[in-house]
Amino acid sequence: MLDYLLEKNKKNNNFYTSGGIAVYVKDPLANGLDMEKIMQFIERKIPKKFLSEVEMVVVAHLKDFDERNINAMYENGCLYITPDQDDEADLIDDVIHEISHSLEHPYYNEIYADGELEAEFLNKRRELRNILWDHGYKTQINFFLNMEYDVEFDNFLLNIVGYDKLAMLMQGMFISPYAATSLREYFASGFTEFFMHPDHKLLKSVSPVLYEKLKNLYTTD
Ligand SMILES: [Zn+2]
Repeated sequence: MLDYLLEKNKKNNNFYTSGGIAVYVKDPLANGLDMEKIMQFIERKIPKKFLSEVEMVVVAHLKDFDERNINAMYENGCLYITPDQDDEADLIDDVIHEISHSLEHPYYNEIYADGELEAEFLNKRRELRNILWDHGYKTQINFFLNMEYDVEFDNFLLNIVGYDKLAMLMQGMFISPYAATSLREYFASGFTEFFMHPDHKLLKSVSPVLYEKLKNLYTTD
């Protein structure tokens, strides 16, 4: 019985996926989540061409996560994920989100070069500013027209307005409060939504340009 329990609790923390991604679970995942199972699911759900940039996945507590108030990041072929995950969906969401960042460079032309995604994003930012203005958040327009990540803007949305309130005010404009953070996060949130909700209903109606781009990326070789 003891042997059986030991065997059962012994999760593989260092393995290769069937698609050849090296996975290292340095710090154990919360809530008994099984990284092998999650990676299997991801490799079935995400087309192989979208996984070509990812060489390694590391599950670990990183200082960067606390300092920058994030729970995952992508850098040079490696995807870093926090072990603090609520459930399988939470973890899958984080992995797919970071996979999307790995694709921004190789698919730069398809995603960004024609400026259409930027235009969709900026229209939404202007609209959001007007709504927030009406609710007493009076800010300079330039604050909303910077598409790059800006820690001050991030803090404004997250802590000054707050995501709960924001989620209500931006309904039908952004698929989530985080999608308003920067153009890159707008893309990443849409990419994640595309695979998490395959009916694409919300994405299609809220972000038609982004949806078309993702559909084209998905269907062309
Ligand atoms: Zn991101």
